[in-house]
Amino acid sequence: MRPALLDPLFAEAASLPGVGPKVEKLLARVTGVAEGPPLVRDLLFHLPVSAIARQQIASLDELPQQGHVVVTGKVEHHEAPRRHSRAPYRVILDDGRGTVELIFFNIRSQWIEKILPLGATRTVSGRIDWFDYRAQIVHPEVMEPNAADKIQMVEPIYPLTEGLSSRVLGKIVRAALDRAPTLPEWITADLIAREKWPSLTEALAAMHRPQEAAALLPEAPAWRRLAFDELLASQLALGLVRRNARKTAGKARQFSGERAAKLHELLPFALTQAQQDAVTHIRKDLRSPERMLRLLQGDVGSGKTLVALNAILDVSEDGGQSALMAPTEILARQHFATIAPLAESIGLTTALFTGKDIAGRGEKLAALAAGDIDIAIGTHALFQESVAFKDLGLVIVDEQHRFGVHQRMLLSGKGSAPDLLVMTATPIPRTLVLTYFGDMEISELREKPAGRRPIDTRVASSERLSEVKERIRSAVDKGEKVYWVCPLVEESESLDVAAAEERFRDLEKMFGSRALLLHGRMKAAEKAEAMQRFRDAGGAVLVATTVIEVGVDVPDASIIVIEHAERFGLAQLHQLRGRVGRGDKPSSCLLLYKPPLSETARERLKVMRETNDGFVIAEADLKLRGEGDLLGTRQSGMPGFRLARPEFHGDLLSLARDEAKLILAREEKGGDAGREAIRCLLYLFGRDEAIRLMRSG
Ligand code: ADP
Ligand code: MG
Repeated sequence: MRPALLDPLFAEAASLPGVGPKVEKLLARVTGVAEGPPLVRDLLFHLPVSAIARQQIASLDELPQQGHVVVTGKVEHHEAPRRHSRAPYRVILDDGRGTVELIFFNIRSQWIEKILPLGATRTVSGRIDWFDYRAQIVHPEVMEPNAADKIQMVEPIYPLTEGLSSRVLGKIVRAALDRAPTLPEWITADLIAREKWPSLTEALAAMHRPQEAAALLPEAPAWRRLAFDELLASQLALGLVRRNARKTAGKARQFSGERAAKLHELLPFALTQAQQDAVTHIRKDLRSPERMLRLLQGDVGSGKTLVALNAILDVSEDGGQSALMAPTEILARQHFATIAPLAESIGLTTALFTGKDIAGRGEKLAALAAGDIDIAIGTHALFQESVAFKDLGLVIVDEQHRFGVHQRMLLSGKGSAPDLLVMTATPIPRTLVLTYFGDMEISELREKPAGRRPIDTRVASSERLSEVKERIRSAVDKGEKVYWVCPLVEESESLDVAAAEERFRDLEKMFGSRALLLHGRMKAAEKAEAMQRFRDAGGAVLVATTVIEVGVDVPDASIIVIEHAERFGLAQLHQLRGRVGRGDKPSSCLLLYKPPLSETARERLKVMRETNDGFVIAEADLKLRGEGDLLGTRQSGMPGFRLARPEFHGDLLSLARDEAKLILAREEKGGDAGREAIRCLLYLFGRDEAIRLMRSG
């Protein structure tokens, strides 16, 4: 049960004044909340990127050359524009020592006369401009003098989304701040004292109602404390999982490897050395009485699936079932399509479990519970309560580059301490592995299967679209298969995005029924059909949104065109590009961008053109992302983290790890002190699954 103390933070943002359904949607987008409605907490974790500092100016003859000011004076003069003139409405404010002109464009005179009546004293705030030695403020905020204390002397500026102004967002966030309760302190007193950190509530207030602009820099105590909290929650959860994993002994599996040997006979190629090494590591883990907690890292196309299948076969010799979980339904289907026939020729049964597959579900569930199904492949639907195994021996989680590993690591409940293999496409720099995976053992597939040729990557402006289409036509005539990726349009229609559907209709004119469409809003069956036709000889051009990003495998596809490549992050581009270059044909990737390119986007495309190495790309990604990616989603920080930023808070990671150790040691000794605080912390950062692993649940 969540501590009641946290209730105000877990209230929906919609409960705040000024948040209707429309604004709620915008809040979800701007805070990057993907699941469920945005909460008060999510708003508080939406940190400003900068601030406007206003100066209170005592006398109008002391106006600065620039900056935001707050001034008070008497309304001296109104000058309305002539009818039909484009000129602005001017109002002169005078304090006896100097004047300032207030400028309003496109405004009704009645309104101005009401808020700035002649002869009245008013306080205004805005940015000072100088024009012919006259000071001006365009569209100032106007207050009666007795309300002037409502002006924020330091106004935080938030990452925004279309349709939501900083002023509106700021108001909502401040309303959220007013709900923030005082929480028990979870950080040890020593550390707090040493770092001179404020309490959580004070830190949030410093960010959202700053007294000075410098207080909300990432290096300042408030943000550092918040980042530390987030890292601490994550390290605590990992620590709890680890402790639990160590306590529950695994099974020492016995197998000869004969089933895996059969698999290798079926394959038209030999395993790479890297694959063989990984297999050796895994076998050692499986045979040991301790639980396996292994991370299999390998760039896209490095052949992780076969390594996984090898482990599945080994475990099955000892009667153990395996579960393979994929992040998307498409990928689950694809793993199923690869694995089921191979497994079947070796005498094993495979079943697919996805959220939408209703037909035959009952029988499948029964067969799984009876042990008649050896391999269950699916999405997170696999881990619903109704899914029971007879003897789940091995859990494989294909994470690719998506994070959220914490939750997945906590799945152990289904079997008696099954071995765990997490597969990720490489782009996780070494330094981050520990952050996300804790103490897992690591196997790396650095070598690509033989015969793979590097993908020839080109960058071109979308102005050359018709040329590109002609090139694609001649490639298709030669029998090539092409992915054509468009960014998903879920945002405002007004954004100039090449919608997949539109591009599909366009390419359909050229390729007829050989053009296919695949996007996230299609039904599962339609998606499966499109993929099937693309795999068969029938399809030639698959127009897709990023649903193909993760793992889709059609070895003879050799060209990928990515429209609006400037909108994708590096990791995503690399994943997308990895869809080609899987067979032995020479492959190419064409990145189309819409000019003008931002500095960072230009740099990203350059990295893509220059290297195919997932490790290099991951490092570059981390560097580039740091720089003022003001898109305003979590993507600007460490993936999976909202507050901690690697370039500013990297040093806090080891501090958080030590602190987590300290807390866990204290907790293990049975100390109840600080327990409630730790529970609060874990809930606050969504690590509450770990709580049941605490000493007394
Ligand atoms: P990953 O999951 O690491 O992205 P996959 O396991 O999907 O990679 O493998 C990509 C492709 O490479 C598949 O078509 C697979 O059959 C093929 N493949 C895997 N191992 C080898 C190998 N040793 N030699 C040649 N091809 C391989
Ligand atoms: Mg794969």
